[in-house]
Amino acid sequence: MERYASAADLVAALKPERPVLCARPHAAARAARWFVDNFDGDVAYAYKANSSVFLIGALYGAGIRHFDVASLPEIEDAATIPGVTLHFMHPVKSREAINRAYFKHGVRSFSLDTEDELQKIVDETSGPSGPARDLALFVRITVPAINSRIPLERKFGTSGQKAARLLVKARQVAAELGITFHVGSQTMTPDAYVNALAEVQRLIGMAGVVVDRLDVGGGFPSIYPGMQPAPLARFLAAIREGVDKLPVRENVRLMAEPGRALVAEAESVVVRVEARRGNDLFINDGGYGVLFDAAHLGWIYPARLLNREPRAGEAPVSYELWGPTCDSIDHMKGPFVLPACVKEGDYLEIGNVGAYGRAIAGDFNGYGKYEEAILDDEPMMTMYGEAGPAKALIG
Ligand SMILES: *Cc1c(COP(=O)(O)O)cnc(C)c1O
Repeated sequence: MERYASAADLVAALKPERPVLCARPHAAARAARWFVDNFDGDVAYAYKANSSVFLIGALYGAGIRHFDVASLPEIEDAATIPGVTLHFMHPVKSREAINRAYFKHGVRSFSLDTEDELQKIVDETSGPSGPARDLALFVRITVPAINSRIPLERKFGTSGQKAARLLVKARQVAAELGITFHVGSQTMTPDAYVNALAEVQRLIGMAGVVVDRLDVGGGFPSIYPGMQPAPLARFLAAIREGVDKLPVRENVRLMAEPGRALVAEAESVVVRVEARRGNDLFINDGGYGVLFDAAHLGWIYPARLLNREPRAGEAPVSYELWGPTCDSIDHMKGPFVLPACVKEGDYLEIGNVGAYGRAIAGDFNGYGKYEEAILDDEPMMTMYGEAGPAKALIG
């Protein structure tokens, strides 16, 4: 893997024909160290956010030893990392996946939100001498999404009497009983966690069970143009306060599952402008590639021109971007703010695409093939800098 001091250096050296995925492993390591140092429990990286070996290596080097995985292929991948604990936190799993996770890959930790799923887990982890006695079972509860840019509460989770009944049932077969939730991705303010923990408290009271584990899930935000979240320290402080109110606070083992917050800053994509039409730029990656969220959720990423200095005194322009496929939904409305002089053949860095960028990219229409490189400079925007959330450096 080639290393460069910056994306501008990479472009000067390579003039790449294809888009280049640029990893900044040091940024993933910095984020992971922050979580490991400041969160009072296990930090399980949500594997689906980005499974680049460079980033996983950096997270591991920074002390991450737990992974939240959601499928057998993710488990098979993550199980090759020495000395890690995997948590199979998808509430709907195939029987084969449960069986192989437990017997072949040593997974002991599972989430569930129905009695049917509990029965599947019991069936598939039982051996000749009876039911497994070493399961950590996390009941996934529904919590309101507050200030989340990607709410997740409609798909998974149980609540009320049903949740209480499931907790009682799971208690009977679990070596360790846990509760888990997800407040929704890119949650901008800590009150979502305060609310969720109040719901946990209510359910523990209703069910009258001892809870050994509490997983506060993911949802921790990153910084993007136009999205300046509350500082991460405030999220962890809110969680600490909420946990202190729980009857089980003395003995409960905490876990968090950050995905986005650990890797968002750690990847950029370098793209080439293949055409300019007015203030629309046609580039060689898009909504079927790393920029899925830009096309489908209207996400805005920081962007800068790499191969030239803009003319002095030139006002920046708001551009829309179009991806390379023939599909008209391959359109990123932005705005992406760049110098007025951008023209065909120019190279752009689109930053902070590390979360769910590479992970989602496909190769529709023959695109989606990337060169890869490592960069040593700072991410375009960061939550972890000396001065707190920094501003984008716009070319
Ligand atoms: C996706 C996911 C995460 C990570 O969410 P982020 O918003 O990226 O932090 C954590 N836990 C579960 C169960 C998930 O599905």
